Amino acid sequence: MRRSRRHLAPPFAAVALPFAALLPGGCANAPRVAPAAARAAHLGHVAAPDWTPRELDEVMAWLDERDDWQDHGRPLAVPRHPAEKYLAGFCIVLDPGHGGKADVPGYKRGPTGVREAEMNLRVARLLQKLLTDAGAFVVLTRDGETSAAADDRLPDTLVRRAEVANHLARPDGGIGADLFISLHHNAVDRPDVNYPTVWFHGEADHAEPSLDPARYVGHRLNAELRCAGVGKTGVLMNDRQMHRTGFGVLRAARVPAFLTESSFFTHPEEEQRLRDAAYNLREAQAIYLGLVEYAYGGRPTQSPPEVRREGDGLVLTTKLDEGLPGWWGSDRPRILASTIAVFVQGERVPATFDSKSKVLTVRLPLPAGGADVLQVSIHHANLYKHHNWPQRYTVPVPR
Ligand SMILES: [Zn+2]
Repeated sequence: MRRSRRHLAPPFAAVALPFAALLPGGCANAPRVAPAAARAAHLGHVAAPDWTPRELDEVMAWLDERDDWQDHGRPLAVPRHPAEKYLAGFCIVLDPGHGGKADVPGYKRGPTGVREAEMNLRVARLLQKLLTDAGAFVVLTRDGETSAAADDRLPDTLVRRAEVANHLARPDGGIGADLFISLHHNAVDRPDVNYPTVWFHGEADHAEPSLDPARYVGHRLNAELRCAGVGKTGVLMNDRQMHRTGFGVLRAARVPAFLTESSFFTHPEEEQRLRDAAYNLREAQAIYLGLVEYAYGGRPTQSPPEVRREGDGLVLTTKLDEGLPGWWGSDRPRILASTIAVFVQGERVPATFDSKSKVLTVRLPLPAGGADVLQVSIHHANLYKHHNWPQRYTVPVPR
C-alpha cells in the first residue's frame, strides 16, 4: 500500500485515505492500521529502494493471515486502466435513480434518513468523470435533484429516463446510446442484508448485449465494495423476479441496459458508508472498471443484412464483425461459430458461416402470404463471449 500511496498524485492522495477514517465514529469496520502497515512492508516491491525478493514459504505464510472480506478500511485506489481507451467514443446514458420527493417523509431513505436519490447522483457524477476522462460521451438523465426526464413526481418518469438513451444525439451523428445504466441502491425490511445486484430486462436469452457489460460490473461491485452478503445469491438478476413485466425503466430502453442496486442503504453501517463521497467513488470506480473490461472485449456487430432473389427463393447475407481491433492474432477466427443463430419471422433457420470472409449466408424460401418485409434476428458472439448489437432488422423482400 505504501507504494501506491507514493505514486498517487494529488488530488488522488486525498481520497487514498482509508475512507472509514472520514466517517463519524461508530463504524463497525474501523481501519486495521497495523495489518495494513505490515502488508505494505511485503507488498512494496519493485518500486521500493529497500526491496528484496521474497521466498515462497514466506509468501505462502501470508495466506494464513488473509484480509477480511469486509476490509472497509483499505485505501482507495483509482488508477486509470490502460484499456480505458477502448471506451473512447462509447455513448453512455447514466440514470441516477429517483429525485424529486425530498419532502416526502421516509421516501427512499435509510434508517437515519440518508436519501437514496442523493447517493445515486454522487455515484453518477463520479462515474461520469471517470468515463469522460476515458473518452466516452456520457449524459446524465438528471444532474440535480430533478430534470425534465428524471423526477419521481412525474407519472411517466421511468419511460422518460429511458427515452434519453433511446433518442440520444450522438457526437458521431447517430441516434441512441450504446448503453443505458440506471444507478440505484437497494432497500429491504431486514437491516442485516447487504450485497450488490445488477438487473437486466426480460429473459436472459433476449438480453445478451445487456448481460455482457452487466456481468463485469456485477463482479467488480462484489470485489470493490466487499459487502458481507456477497455469495448468498447471484449478482445478475432478471427484473421479472421483481415485477411481472420487469422494471419500467429497463422495459422502455431500446438500447442495451442494466440497473445497479449496488448495496443496501437499509443496512445501518452501509447507510453511513454511502454518505461518504469517497465510498461513492469506490462504487463508481467498480462500475468504471467493469465497463473498461467489457469494452476491452469488444462489441461484435454485422453489416446490415441484404436479401436477393436466387432461383425460386431468397438469399440473405451479412458480414460479421468481432468488434475487436486488429491486434496480434486477429488473423485467427475470433467469432465463436457455435454461437451463430439466425431467426427469420421468429423461426430459427439454418445458416452457413465462412470464418475466412466472415460472411454469413442464409437460404430461404419466398415468404408465405407475399410478405413485403422479413423480421430478421442475428445472434453471434466473439471469443470473449460478447454478443452482437444490434440484433434485430426489418429487411425488405426484393420483388
Ligand atoms: Zn432506487
